[in-house]
Amino acid sequence: MITFLQSNGFYVTFGNKESSFHIIFSFRAGFFLLLQIVTSNMYMNRISEERYNEFGIWLKNLFPYKVQKISLNAGFTCPNRDGTTGWGGCTYCNNQTFSPDYCISDKTITQQLEEGKGFFSSKYPEMHYLAYFQAYTNTYAELSRLIAMYEEALAVSGVVGLAIGTRPDCMPDALLDYLEELNKRTFLLVEYGIESANDNTLQYINRGHTFQQTVEAVERTVKRGIRVGGHVILGLPGEGHDELMRQADLISALPLTTLKLHQLQLIKGTRMVVQSQESPHLFSFYKVDEYIDLVIDYIERLRPDIVLERFVSQSPRSLLLSPDWGLKNHEFTARLRKRMVERDSWQGKWNEAGQ
Ligand code: SF4
Repeated sequence: MITFLQSNGFYVTFGNKESSFHIIFSFRAGFFLLLQIVTSNMYMNRISEERYNEFGIWLKNLFPYKVQKISLNAGFTCPNRDGTTGWGGCTYCNNQTFSPDYCISDKTITQQLEEGKGFFSSKYPEMHYLAYFQAYTNTYAELSRLIAMYEEALAVSGVVGLAIGTRPDCMPDALLDYLEELNKRTFLLVEYGIESANDNTLQYINRGHTFQQTVEAVERTVKRGIRVGGHVILGLPGEGHDELMRQADLISALPLTTLKLHQLQLIKGTRMVVQSQESPHLFSFYKVDEYIDLVIDYIERLRPDIVLERFVSQSPRSLLLSPDWGLKNHEFTARLRKRMVERDSWQGKWNEAGQ
């Protein structure tokens, strides 16, 4: 069988799915050159369109219909703001940055979901939804209130699962008991804000937890059979390339299903603005091409089965001080994919499991 690659050649497959080998031809300098003969299906992932494990494709394989996350603000607070684990919150945090207009806590969960659905349902009538408890710490309340919120979301027509964003120090056993049962009847993803694998950084940004607490929270949750996602920020103060490669190795060692990467953003009204003025030597805000190469270096070190959901976050321009790349998420992803082809890069290239 001959399969054409999008832009750079084709390969010929002999054998069947279980046992096959492939002769790969690449279009170089006006000629098709024999590039490589390979025997494993692993390589085919590297040269196909998907050079990394993409969240949208992962969802497509899980659900027989289109699925879209709808962000919610359930009106929770955060133990790192109210004095339970800390005061003032993480130094980079301004929660206004992650709440779409429909996502206002004086609306009920049902109202927010119905309004969110309105964005998609006219264009995609077959669309189903994941209720994404995003703002603040979505496991930080009385158990009965948490359960009522989650169940309200699941009762909304078209909602086929939950994603719950929280902190690693905020997952009591009683809640895990409930989530374990919930996970058996619906799709569930618990997302932990990891942010850094370095305790000095975590202290500097006032996260209020250690990396070891992240390790324990992820492991406790996975032991219940629940899928776990992680979120890290690339470019936190004092974290250069070497530290981020070390982080990628540590993140790969966690039993994560999904991961989001975000660039560090300096947001108006945060304590990090003061930190950046006091200690400018600790801060370097990447130009977009530098960040793309950093992300590629990072995901080359990652375990190849981790599903990558995002690479950038987009804060409202009215709040963003730096860096202002003016790129939408899909524009960034297109540039990243192009650069991965140029570098002949793939997720896990330098991870033992990916070689
Ligand atoms: S980033 Fe999350 S954990 Fe940190 S202060 Fe903001 S809401 Fe709390």
